[in-house]
Amino acid sequence: MFTRRALLAGAAAGIAASGLARPHIARAAAPFRQPDLPFAEDALAPTISSQTVNLHYGKHHAAYFKTLNDLVGGTPYEAMALGDIVKASAEKDADRKIFNNAGQAWNHVFYWEQFKPGGAKAPAGDLLAAVDKDLGGLDKMKTDLVAAAGGVFGSGWAWLVSDKGKLSLEGTPGGDSPFAHGRTPLLGVDVWEHAYYLDYQNRRADHVKAVLDTIVNWDVVAERMKG
Ligand code: MN
Repeated sequence: MFTRRALLAGAAAGIAASGLARPHIARAAAPFRQPDLPFAEDALAPTISSQTVNLHYGKHHAAYFKTLNDLVGGTPYEAMALGDIVKASAEKDADRKIFNNAGQAWNHVFYWEQFKPGGAKAPAGDLLAAVDKDLGGLDKMKTDLVAAAGGVFGSGWAWLVSDKGKLSLEGTPGGDSPFAHGRTPLLGVDVWEHAYYLDYQNRRADHVKAVLDTIVNWDVVAERMKG
């Protein structure tokens, strides 16, 4: 579970402070603060090494927050919650830089929250029923999500998505997400090379499979499905 400190940090970044943190419930305004990592840097090893987490959280994710804060100063976005910035800037070509950084700030909060150090637990209950019904079962869902990740050309994300309760899989480029366009992501796998290259080099599929098999906290995924 998340520590009190992590939840408070989440609130500072516009994330619900009760129950499981859900970044789609965004409340705060700028300056946005990157939430604390909800586990130790070496907690996801060997699936994701300590070095990768250190750089990914401490450099890449941190930089999205810093750049976003620099960009929104003096704009109407300054008074908005992080999630609202993502949605409001998603369709505006002139605000592409803000969207890219807000999207990546949001996506990575979502990303860190969904992992469970020490191993995965299989999905159950309504989540498993929906995976069986809409995606042909857990094994097929994993295989197809690995394929969706492989289908992202260059940098982007692979997602398990709920659209009004119906599950689907998709890949998005750059800092985009289903959330930016009004759908509900349940699980997001970062397939930018910074997420896996130190540990897996070019073997993106091996990385995504290992993530799905070993560190996803399916309780968080199930909680996201409740909305
Ligand atoms: Mn990343």
